[in-house]
Amino acid sequence: MDSHPISMDFKGMDIVSIRDLSKEQIDEILDLSERMIPYAKGERLTKALDGRILSNLFFEPSTRTRMSFESAINRLGGRSLDLGNPSMTSVSKGETLADTIRMVESYSDAIVLRHPHEGAARLASRFSEKPVINAGDGAGSHPTQTLLDIFTIRRNKGNIDGIKVAMVGDLKYGRTVHSLAEALTIFGAEMTFVAPPSLQMPKETIKQVEKLGGKPKVKTKLEEVIPDVDVLYITRIQKERFPDIAEYQKVAGTYRVDVSSLREAKTDMIIMHPLPRLEEISPEVDSTPHAKYFEQAFNGVPVRMALLMLVLGGEL
Ligand code: ASP
Repeated sequence: MDSHPISMDFKGMDIVSIRDLSKEQIDEILDLSERMIPYAKGERLTKALDGRILSNLFFEPSTRTRMSFESAINRLGGRSLDLGNPSMTSVSKGETLADTIRMVESYSDAIVLRHPHEGAARLASRFSEKPVINAGDGAGSHPTQTLLDIFTIRRNKGNIDGIKVAMVGDLKYGRTVHSLAEALTIFGAEMTFVAPPSLQMPKETIKQVEKLGGKPKVKTKLEEVIPDVDVLYITRIQKERFPDIAEYQKVAGTYRVDVSSLREAKTDMIIMHPLPRLEEISPEVDSTPHAKYFEQAFNGVPVRMALLMLVLGGEL
């Protein structure tokens, strides 16, 4: 198992957008993620990144992304530094992101950044010689979530080429679906975007998907797609991004999946969600074989371990 060498092509690389990675590179990350599973579970131990320090800078709330990055670096024998609550740091005194990054770069070997502004991670990467990993930039994208989403689909479906995926909910502000739609197109999935017209996939993402050869369908009704799809990727309506709360209230609760709505689903259809979920998936669905969202959340650990190994040049 450990006889395959780890690619050095990624060493020092920023992971800002899924567009920074080719299909072959994504496959390589996912293959290494597979090898990371026993380490992610604590069944095998490694010191592959002994002495390395990862900085976590989260300017927006996070549970899974922050904790899975921490778990990943710890499982690899490294350590993490956490900026903590930005209101308790010099950011609250008006320090610019550029200055914060310059300083954090000198304290660590790689930086994970979540920020409310689209483009923040790209900006940060210009001020850091060390790898910057985008952990979500506003409504922009979330490339490491995309990697673990693809990993989850690949593990459950074997092959992505030709599978039917419906993305449901807030496709406008939900950053995870932006990077995922592009990556799934490269892997040959057929996509349907299901959302209220005001929350449909941004034109820029649709254009990019089409440029990559995809022919996505656009729908508003969830019941129409359930019998046909192999993967139902549900998202939360991103309340925090609505400029007007009245607009949020108009669309809140538009889609809800419960056991009765799954009657027509294929027996091996899987349901994914980047989490946190609100009312869009009823808890009774959790015990059906369709539910894969907690497995998906676990997959954040091996996938982020693989990524850290690659950008920091670790050896197993
Ligand atoms: N946790 C995901 C994100 O940070 C999804 C969500 O918040 O709805 O984008």
